[in-house]
Amino acid sequence: MRALVTGGAGFIGSHLCEKLLAQGHHVTAIDNLTTGNHANISALEAMDRFDLVVDSVLDEPLMDRLVRDADVVFHLASAVGVSLVIDEPTKTIQTIVEGTRVVLDYARRYRKRVLITSTSEVYGKGSKIPFSENDDVVLGPTSTRRWLYASAKMLDEFLALAHWHETQLPVICVRLFNTVGPRQVGQYGMVLPRFAKAALNNEPITVYGDGDQTRCFCHVDDAVNALIKLTETNDAHGKVINVGSDEEISINDLAKLVISLAGSSSKILYIPYDEAYTQGFEDMRRRVPNLGLARELINYQPRHDLEAVIQSTLAYWTDRD
Ligand code: UDP
Repeated sequence: MRALVTGGAGFIGSHLCEKLLAQGHHVTAIDNLTTGNHANISALEAMDRFDLVVDSVLDEPLMDRLVRDADVVFHLASAVGVSLVIDEPTKTIQTIVEGTRVVLDYARRYRKRVLITSTSEVYGKGSKIPFSENDDVVLGPTSTRRWLYASAKMLDEFLALAHWHETQLPVICVRLFNTVGPRQVGQYGMVLPRFAKAALNNEPITVYGDGDQTRCFCHVDDAVNALIKLTETNDAHGKVINVGSDEEISINDLAKLVISLAGSSSKILYIPYDEAYTQGFEDMRRRVPNLGLARELINYQPRHDLEAVIQSTLAYWTDRD
């Protein structure tokens, strides 16, 4: 099989390329290397079955060719992380909405299977735990920039489902919950690499807000296995599917667990949201997926528990800046 992976030099994209190559497939990665990092895939470049194209998914003639030559498209290219979304709102909207529009248009032209990665952010402030794919979404006002990310990703989902509805284009939308592991960097706000690095350096760990907010952290390896299996399942076409872990932990307890597993002397420091992000920032209190649909479709069962996820992140950051 020939796979096209947009955002292939990113954190999740690079693990996906690696896994597809290990399964014997041919892989073309396209990445403009803004938040993607060449080092993530440099080891793959020696392989005959791997190509990297450094360019934007907004280049339509290029995407026409790349989608035509692929059997399946994994669309991961996106704006990354809460801080970037808040700092570069117009670019975020363009990258997300226009990028997905281009991918879907060419997938439609050549009738290719396409997986669109969406996000658990779409559930917004929903309070019905766990989050199921058909639940109502609860977003904040347009004056709060955080919500533009969820809105743009929702538009991607609407567009993908519209293609399925109108022409039965085989599309799959995946709402990725917090995904972590080796190669994820803390520079775009992600909590686990930030905590791991601070703990390994015995520096203060900064918890935003009161730390009682909860998340579930899925190892990237489990997430990419699920993405591949979903593209191999016809029953997934035209569906939105949660992928992540459902092992819930508060950010306070996460900080304590990272400190203890790292054998660190770090102290926990509390910072108000307004200081960490921007004024009027709204955070989700709880975020837990209902994984029933993924279980039904692909017998999904994450192999890494939370401790394994943290250990793998700590191992990656040991002796690394
Ligand atoms: N967070 C934190 N300290 C940090 C970075 C993040 O306390 O240095 C918090 C953040 O406010 C959120 C949670 O950790 O409540 C997860 O943040 P992340 O950006 O990793 O993911 P998301 O907010 O998208 O779930």
